[in-house]
Amino acid sequence: VSMTDPCHLCTRPLSDALTVWEQGRTGPLHTAACLRCGLVQTVPHPTEAEVSAYYESGEYRQEFRPLPVFELGEDLEAVRNEDGSPRYVDPTDERYGTMLDRAGMHTAKRLVATHGLGAGAKVMEIGCGDGRVAAAMVWHDLEVHALERDPRKAVEAEGHMENAWCGNRPATPRPTVDTVATRDGFDFVYALQVIEHFADPIAGLRDNVVRYAKVGGIVHVEVPTVERPYVSLSHFFQKPHVVNYSSDTLGEAMVLAGLTDVRVWIEGSVLVGVGVRAAEAPPAPEWPEPWSRAHQTVAYLHDWERRRLEREKGMAQAAAMHDLMSRLEAGQLTSPEEQIAAGKEWARFRDTATDAVMGLQALCHALDEPGDDWDADPYIRGFLMGGIARQQDFALVCHHIINHLIMRLNR
Ligand SMILES: [Zn+2]
Repeated sequence: VSMTDPCHLCTRPLSDALTVWEQGRTGPLHTAACLRCGLVQTVPHPTEAEVSAYYESGEYRQEFRPLPVFELGEDLEAVRNEDGSPRYVDPTDERYGTMLDRAGMHTAKRLVATHGLGAGAKVMEIGCGDGRVAAAMVWHDLEVHALERDPRKAVEAEGHMENAWCGNRPATPRPTVDTVATRDGFDFVYALQVIEHFADPIAGLRDNVVRYAKVGGIVHVEVPTVERPYVSLSHFFQKPHVVNYSSDTLGEAMVLAGLTDVRVWIEGSVLVGVGVRAAEAPPAPEWPEPWSRAHQTVAYLHDWERRRLEREKGMAQAAAMHDLMSRLEAGQLTSPEEQIAAGKEWARFRDTATDAVMGLQALCHALDEPGDDWDADPYIRGFLMGGIARQQDFALVCHHIINHLIMRLNR
């Protein structure tokens, strides 16, 4: 391994690549932007063997667990631990699965609507994971096939897809999940949060995604983007993400992988790329001098981080407030003046935070459509009932809801 690896996108040696960040979610990680094309990538490149070992050893699943969700009781009150903090739903719990089902249905509906997929279309999901999106695609009377390299996940996916098909859809061929591809020629191929994991991103996109589409078939990919890092940079950059695309670099990667009529856009914090499989390799993109993308990207990301830290100061104030209230409750604030001042501060903060969340809820309801698969209420109720126990919970729930709102507004 060396810093002279060629850029994944334009093949320029990365010896003079601009350092973007040195920290990843689970440890030190050197991320750099290619001076010519601006592609943000892990340098030195992880090898195919390293990437395979990472997933096969179970290390990936260990390091990247499901997103936390509040546990709500019968009365929609947050269930609490002994120390009073709200309890999260165990990801193995059935109720957690129900939420994931709804998210899968929402995604499938979006894919079908975006591309006008008609009944009987042959679709393929690459890297389907637990198969919830693929299962929801079955409900749209599509002929659904999926590929999942992890045999345990493939079994799980098969269960979900079989349940959706269930023999009740005689006009629709039985869905399948394979760990190794046996078919191609699909009308529609999609890969959600997958292609940034390939050790060789361009070849991976061409050989593991595009090749399954028929000539003229549509390919749809979704990836995180350096244009909207949804968290701190040290959390955004992560070992399993070999590359971090922007609208420009994703579009170029798709052309290099054999797609034409490429369109790229951002929904919430997700970068979406759509293209049509070409009969012949389209002309390769060029990056004429002067090159400025790498510098622009680094400047943008550092500014993003600076603004995020400013927001974080506000969050730190909230944490200090919580600390103050804990001391009040524990009887550590003894003078009446101290107690009254603390009480006033707390009430002001609690009202502001509650107003913010109630506002989000009202906005969600205003945008609700009949038959919508996604419902903000469980998150919002979970938060309101749980109170402001930790400022991270507040940020997490708001972030989740706001992303959904943005995606909905984009449509
Ligand atoms: Zn490059």
